[in-house]
Amino acid sequence: MAPSRKKLGSLRILVSNDDGIHAPGLKLLTRIAQSLSDDVWVVAPETEQSAASHSLTVRTPLRMRKLGPRKFAVDGTPTDCVLLGVLHLLKDHQPDLVLSGINNGSNLAEDIAHSGTVAAASMGAALGLPSIAFSQTISVGETTRWATAEKFAPDLIRKLMAAEWQRDSLVNVNFPDKPASAVKDIVVTHQGRRRRREIVTESVDPFGRPYYWMGSPRNDQATDEDSDISVVSRGAVSVTPLRLDLTQEKMLSSMRKVLG
Ligand code: MN
Repeated sequence: MAPSRKKLGSLRILVSNDDGIHAPGLKLLTRIAQSLSDDVWVVAPETEQSAASHSLTVRTPLRMRKLGPRKFAVDGTPTDCVLLGVLHLLKDHQPDLVLSGINNGSNLAEDIAHSGTVAAASMGAALGLPSIAFSQTISVGETTRWATAEKFAPDLIRKLMAAEWQRDSLVNVNFPDKPASAVKDIVVTHQGRRRRREIVTESVDPFGRPYYWMGSPRNDQATDEDSDISVVSRGAVSVTPLRLDLTQEKMLSSMRKVLG
């Protein structure tokens, strides 16, 4: 995979997301991609699929609706969209780059496991394509600062395409909830971990049956300073290289001893 040999202007870019085909973040990312290339394709879910993670629709058929010459909506998940886009729609001329987002809200630390935005990029990586997930951090009750993502994303994509990519890898980018002019740096980070775990609230519905509600107030205090979460909360752009291989190398030998 050597995308840097190609001019960005001739790259075929596939854009997807998990907030759905009508999301403002998708429109923005499409516009950004079009500023870099004349060959931009959009395949995105009909409806919001946030937290859909890697789910793949296999028990029911998928419908693809053409909305424009290079714009399609799929009644499935982000993973479905990238699969259909790469393996069907663009099978004769595969994309050189997959962009996902821009998600309305951050995808940091533990979020990465649930994120549909990251999952779309993971699917691109699994198909052997350089893939980047973008998220714009928001604060509760505030409007999304799309201008921050808009300012930094084009140059970031250009630079990332010039970087050396490993197989089965993707990049997770999070923009901070700061005005663009207040954002000073872009920091390469690792996936962080929040201090607090999700909370389960138990209550009783009007019919006397118990119900459970998962979630906790956002707490973006991380356990370590170089992590995605720390860097975004101090107002910088976080760029994290991720890999698909989840093997815990440090446990291989001890586990082999126990099971051997
Ligand atoms: Mn989302």
